[in-house]
Amino acid sequence: MIQLIPREEAGLPRHPDSYYPGPFPKVGVCLHNMAVGSPDPTTLERAKMRTRTNYKYHLAKWGSIDIMEAYDLYNVEGFPVFIEGRPAWSNCDAFSGMAQLGYRYIGLEVHGNYDTQYPNDVILEGISDFLAACCAGGKISGLEMKGHRDFNSLSSYGPTSCPGNNLYPLIPELVAEARRKLEGYGEEEEMIYNLERLPKQGSLFVWGAADVFTRIDNPRHSADYLCWLNVKNESPSPLPIEIFGTPELAAGHPHKDTIPPWEKRGYDIYALAGGHYGGSIILKASQESLLATMTLLRLK
Ligand SMILES: [Zn+2]
Repeated sequence: MIQLIPREEAGLPRHPDSYYPGPFPKVGVCLHNMAVGSPDPTTLERAKMRTRTNYKYHLAKWGSIDIMEAYDLYNVEGFPVFIEGRPAWSNCDAFSGMAQLGYRYIGLEVHGNYDTQYPNDVILEGISDFLAACCAGGKISGLEMKGHRDFNSLSSYGPTSCPGNNLYPLIPELVAEARRKLEGYGEEEEMIYNLERLPKQGSLFVWGAADVFTRIDNPRHSADYLCWLNVKNESPSPLPIEIFGTPELAAGHPHKDTIPPWEKRGYDIYALAGGHYGGSIILKASQESLLATMTLLRLK
């Protein structure tokens, strides 16, 4: 199970609406190293600070509208912890050639410089966990992992060694490890909800609500539970939607999206601290003649 810190908890600003036009289908994960820091244990507060620094660096150095990587991986006191940067469903991730190819990969940036340092077991465990979880949750179409350098031919800034000479050669073994873990996800629980329309709110029709109850066993981390939400649009035309969670259960962040007919997509749902949680997922859409089902996949 991956330990995921939602973007807002890391102190990053809300993502700009200007890159909501996604989603693009994701085919795999692209691995980066930060080229600063180390694989050694750090505190969660220091990790959050580093991610905020990255955010400011990307805006200042590259004129980006947001942080570029989708997730940052840290060794937080002996455990792999992920901080959400750019959401996985957004339209760009990897640095080199992102406009042409990078957006097809979910970018994972690892704390440390792996040209000069070696990844330890915590970091390696985190990378294979992440790949397995993305695949199990339907965020990527298969167990594929690239390194940033694989896209050097697309870069207009010259070649990079990223994710580092001591990490890049381990990618095939990390993919193999993720495959072994994926087989262990057999106990996932799939809950299918047939959503019924509730009274209209403003210009939007409301379907809901799927009640979700989770229990978080490890209060040490602020996000110890993650499940995945898929929405199926059974109408013949594209469907603009918004997805919310009640405050007891954060739906990651409010999602605005357009779903082509029949397409299922993954969304994160977070519970925010240790303990018992209950809450509802609410779907709002702009069409009345919708048949919608929602599938929650609990990876536990
Ligand atoms: Zn990189």
